[in-house]
Amino acid sequence: MFPEYDVIVVGAGHAGCEAAHAAAKMGSSVLLCTMNMNTIAQMSCNPAMGGVAKGQIVREIDALGGQSGIISDKSMIQFRMLNRSKGPAMWSPRSQNDRMRFAEEWRLALEKTPNVDFWQEMVTGLVVKDKRVVGVKTSIGLEIKAKSVVLTNGTFLNGLIHIGEKQFGGGRTGESAARGITEQLVELGFEAGRMKTGTPPRVDGRSLDYSKMEVQYGDENPEKFSFSDETTPLKEQRTCWITYTNKEVHETLETGFDRSPMFNGRIQGLGPRYCPSIEDKINRFAERDRHQIFVEPEGWDTVEIYVNGFSTSLPEDVQYKAIRKIAGFENCKMFRPGYAIEYDFFPPTQLKLTLETQLVENLFFAGQINGTTGYEEAASQGLIAGMNAARKVLEESPFILKRSDAYIGVLIDDLINKGTEEPYRMFTSRAEFRLLLRQDNADLRLTQMGHAVGLASDERLEKMIDKKNDTAKLINDLKQKKLSPEDINTGLEDMETATIKEKITVEKLLKRPQLGLQSIMNLDRDIKSYLTKYPKDVLEQAEIQVKYNSYIEKEQQMVEKLNNMENFKIPLNFDYLSVPALSAEGKQKLHKIKPETLGQASRISGVSPADLSILTVYLGR
Ligand code: FAD
Repeated sequence: MFPEYDVIVVGAGHAGCEAAHAAAKMGSSVLLCTMNMNTIAQMSCNPAMGGVAKGQIVREIDALGGQSGIISDKSMIQFRMLNRSKGPAMWSPRSQNDRMRFAEEWRLALEKTPNVDFWQEMVTGLVVKDKRVVGVKTSIGLEIKAKSVVLTNGTFLNGLIHIGEKQFGGGRTGESAARGITEQLVELGFEAGRMKTGTPPRVDGRSLDYSKMEVQYGDENPEKFSFSDETTPLKEQRTCWITYTNKEVHETLETGFDRSPMFNGRIQGLGPRYCPSIEDKINRFAERDRHQIFVEPEGWDTVEIYVNGFSTSLPEDVQYKAIRKIAGFENCKMFRPGYAIEYDFFPPTQLKLTLETQLVENLFFAGQINGTTGYEEAASQGLIAGMNAARKVLEESPFILKRSDAYIGVLIDDLINKGTEEPYRMFTSRAEFRLLLRQDNADLRLTQMGHAVGLASDERLEKMIDKKNDTAKLINDLKQKKLSPEDINTGLEDMETATIKEKITVEKLLKRPQLGLQSIMNLDRDIKSYLTKYPKDVLEQAEIQVKYNSYIEKEQQMVEKLNNMENFKIPLNFDYLSVPALSAEGKQKLHKIKPETLGQASRISGVSPADLSILTVYLGR
């Protein structure tokens, strides 16, 4: 009934969809095996993509040739570039999405991808021979053969849903939990853990009074995620709203604390510290008498509303009473209550940088199964796992992104070397080279790499090369073009420019903090007609590169230093246990993680600088 596949992807969430698409695009025959074809790319929680650091990840996925950016663009109902008032390293694209359209677009994209077959069923186990995965077993007893398997089970492994004192098995509300896989992996020697996450109630938008809330519009000139020409920015957008909880809401929620699974010890798993439930917030920040609530539509046409900031697992009657005390929610009708879910994950220190497991060859893990949270984190891991699964089958070298290449590199490096005790989400502060890893230059950083392995298309590469060359030419010209003090001092209100006494190059002028190419353009007709020949992304790129040149160069020098250590390879079979001078903890961690380079060894928590020098001597550096 089934051929032997190159890659079987288990689960069609954000990780699974990217994995299946990438592997198939790179020439593998792929089977995407998922419990329910109607929930492909389901957004389990908020209908939004991107945000701080996460928006950078979506653009990186896109630059490499993944699909999340395109799907987000196609299903977007509102776009905002967050942190515009800060430096460009912090600019973060975020979209509000139509939940149903997002899922539909992903399904259509996968159906259009040659080499992807589908099978709807629960995978209950793996077929492993001589420490190598060779297929999967399904709930109706089928065995499907494959050269490699990517597990992307999300929150489904032994998932347990909590609403107040009620608890029942499930991977998401209305969907059954996945059983069998954890137990088999533990038997094979894997360590497993338990985590939890939660989601707010969904409500009927027709029952809300928006006049009592603040309106939140999208950007006046919305942008998009994808660097490709496949999508266009929104012409119309839906509005969102902001409202607040108050003392009465908090007091009502507190009446349910004795029945809360969070507080009575029923939930064991650790939840995301940065995405706490409302009960957690009022408990931890007792001094605050209100919390912000974002009121977000679930799509273009639906009346369903996502109550962002009100995640809860309190009993449904308490949720209902409390939500009706929020301004604008007095007559609120609920579609479904919020809930918390506990699920199994596998500490990611058991993986290699390719996301292949150390214990079982050709078995890859991606997404929430690795202890992360968030669609973007999951999708990016799926992409890397899918790419590496495809390359492993073809006996090609691993595809690994460094910390200085991408947020995706930071994410995977952190997971593998540091592990995670709580659901891991990306922040800009996790990246040491944030000025290099901007959302605007993800294509310049990554498209060539994506193209070299057969994922990013020729058109993408050509577009990126044009942007790169045009930017270089523009910067060069800005160094030649000069403006006179009269033009500048009369045309600009910036106080600083009054001090300009002689002709100055546009490049030097652009370095002044308050000045951008848009304002300089208005000074001189020739400059304007020259600059308007360039597309917006080239102007923006040139401006950033000119303004932040010295900081960018400093970060690049740091990267070079790091790369020296990164290029120093450690033999795979190096016996750390036989190096007596290593600290006990360092020895144990190095033995467990088996770093591939000296650079990777330096980032493992518990490996001291002294351990590193000893290692350097032993390796004969
Ligand atoms: P998922 O999107 O969970 O997809 C898993 C897929 O695998 C599903 O299609 C499922 O059907 C399939 N599957 C599982 N097991 C099997 C099997 N054995 N056989 C076949 N198919 C299988 N993220 C945030 O960033 N912030 C939040 O506040 C937040 N809250 C959340 C609240 C809830 C209740 C849930 C469920 C998730 C929440 N998330 C949140 C997490 C976010 O949804 C995930 O991080 C993201 O969806 C993970 O993607 P994934 O691809 O790893 O798994």
